[in-house]
Amino acid sequence: MLQPFCPVDVRVLPDEAGRQAMRAMLPPASRLLVLASRSRCAQLNLTSFFLALQGDGHAVQLYADIPANPDVTDIATLLTRLREQPFEPTAILAIGGGSCMDMGKAAAALYPLLSKPDAQSVRDAIVQRAVEKPHLCVDLFVMPTTAGTGSEVTRWATVWDSASRRKLSIDHAQGFAKGAVLIPEWTAGMNATLTLSTGLDALTHAMEAFWAVKRNPLSQELALLAAGKVCSALPRALAEPGNMEARSMLCMASLLAGLAFSQTRTTACHSISYPLTLLKGMPHGLAAAVTLSSVMRRNMPAVPEMDRLSSVFDEAEGLDAWLMETTRGVLELRLSAFGVTEAELPDIAALAFTAGRMDNNPVPFTQADVQTILAENL
Ligand SMILES: [Zn+2]
Repeated sequence: MLQPFCPVDVRVLPDEAGRQAMRAMLPPASRLLVLASRSRCAQLNLTSFFLALQGDGHAVQLYADIPANPDVTDIATLLTRLREQPFEPTAILAIGGGSCMDMGKAAAALYPLLSKPDAQSVRDAIVQRAVEKPHLCVDLFVMPTTAGTGSEVTRWATVWDSASRRKLSIDHAQGFAKGAVLIPEWTAGMNATLTLSTGLDALTHAMEAFWAVKRNPLSQELALLAAGKVCSALPRALAEPGNMEARSMLCMASLLAGLAFSQTRTTACHSISYPLTLLKGMPHGLAAAVTLSSVMRRNMPAVPEMDRLSSVFDEAEGLDAWLMETTRGVLELRLSAFGVTEAELPDIAALAFTAGRMDNNPVPFTQADVQTILAENL
């Protein structure tokens, strides 16, 4: 069944035009909370952009404390700061990668709900799904600086709960950004590891949207387009970081894969990735992609049209060879390279079953299966 399609106003534009497009998207006279790290502000010369926004009549407040993989405590700290000042934002603009957009989504949905926020009330609002009931949210706008999460066109946000070793997910119909502007030049600032991790994240979203239980013809066509673009552009972006054609193609791949998995959600690879990120700090895209080949092999017999997906990698002599060639010289895509030991595999496997993800895999996996898959990639 086709899901309601993406309601986000999305543009892919060069730098100056992209900044102008975002200025035109924002509601007039906003009280605008900008989420962007200090290093991002310096790297992209955002001061002049903020001055332009003020010149447009917006009140601008910068919040620069953007951690990787934000936790319930990070969200509580941000919400408390807004309440204490008080700033009362009417719009949020997240400028950064997936973690920054997740913070923006969480803040947009939770700020109106929690008058006295702390970690427990943030956790409760997410776990008890109060945040997902229809309510007034702050308008969210995003300018991704990475190409891979697809978060700019999905309604979900990830918030981690390290105290209880869980990944929490906010999933509500109002979770979409109102507007997104992707500027390929901005993604050229990523180092090789981040380029690889985010590019492989987009590829994993595409491949999982292709074989998911909830797959449909639209998700599969979008997935094939996205996978083809990653296959061609990721090796080029790694070899020539300033290659704008390759960077633009990865931005498009991220968008297409985001639209594909917004139809289907993800499957076993993402489900297995969560404990790898939570327990071992493995970057999200690498944690998702490390089992891609093992999972694909097992899913092959359950998805009759799988030949179309594997043919994307024909020129590279298959997915395994492509992964080997693409990661060469950047890192080794193996669990042991991230400090995972054989003794930890049962614990990781036990935490790898996220509802809505693992049961969306076309072949059911037991905990023993997941342990074998992990061992294959140790
Ligand atoms: Zn992902």
